[in-house]
Amino acid sequence: MFRAFLTVNNYCPVCHEALYHHRADDAPPYVVITIVGHIIVGGMLFVEKAYHPELWVHVVLWIPLTIVMSLAMLPNIKGTLIGIQWALRMHGFDPNSPEALESPRDAEAARGE
Ligand SMILES: [Zn+2]
Repeated sequence: MFRAFLTVNNYCPVCHEALYHHRADDAPPYVVITIVGHIIVGGMLFVEKAYHPELWVHVVLWIPLTIVMSLAMLPNIKGTLIGIQWALRMHGFDPNSPEALESPRDAEAARGE
């Protein structure tokens, strides 16, 4: 689905489905922040309550974990959201919508790219 870390192919390389109709926009980072935030803040509070470690332990533990989890989740969440848009026939994924006629270039412009 992706040709780079977060760049979606215009067409599926296997079945040639037009993927450029997606409008993932800001949703993937929003969902990732929500999930990672809950895990990190919950973990931080638990570790502080249970072990009360030195401050540097929190810094060394939670900052890299936040970065790694966010980067690992972003492509998966973005793919999931685009899959949901496709399954619900949102935007140009609905063959009867006016957006279905747009070109990959029109879709890029509509996404502000
Ligand atoms: Zn496909």
